[in-house]
Amino acid sequence: MRRAVFLDRDGTLIEEANYLSEIRSLTLFPYTVDAVRLLNQSGFAVVVVTNQAGIARGIVKEAFVAEAHAVIDARLAVGGARIDAYYYCPHHPDGSIAAFRKDCDCRKPRPGQLRQAAADLNLDLARSFVVGDRWSDVDAGEAVGARGVLVRTGHGRQSESKNRASATVTDNLIQAVAWILRQP
Ligand SMILES: [Mg+2]
Ligand SMILES: [Zn+2]
Repeated sequence: MRRAVFLDRDGTLIEEANYLSEIRSLTLFPYTVDAVRLLNQSGFAVVVVTNQAGIARGIVKEAFVAEAHAVIDARLAVGGARIDAYYYCPHHPDGSIAAFRKDCDCRKPRPGQLRQAAADLNLDLARSFVVGDRWSDVDAGEAVGARGVLVRTGHGRQSESKNRASATVTDNLIQAVAWILRQP
């Protein structure tokens, strides 16, 4: 079984764009390619897990999410980095699109996306990590026995101000990766 690092997308892997809906607003952080490549080289599966309630709210279509992920893949590939799999939750309990209006198990902090990835990729969740800019990211990981790291990018500083005991917090994704690689 493989260890994984689950990465939140918006505010963690790429800049927070408040419902990303245009490719021109898709911006990788300067260290994103290096961070992902380091995880690749260290043998971790790198899995994006992202809440995309913009789909339920009618702001973006699933085809756009797929296009955005293809663009991220292309930009990572230039630097020899690779995402092993993407998962997203298209739902929201108050969504305007009936097909996606749902109290689901895959919207973080619920761990449905992580569980699905573990089943698909044969992942060892108890030896895995999750990195995100909201406590709901960390909670999704902890719900399945993974360790969480909060980053201060995106909504992270706001999240950090809602203090939690014994949480690991780093400035950004590359520092989170450096921390993960130091863990036994
Ligand atoms: Mg986020
Ligand atoms: Zn969902």
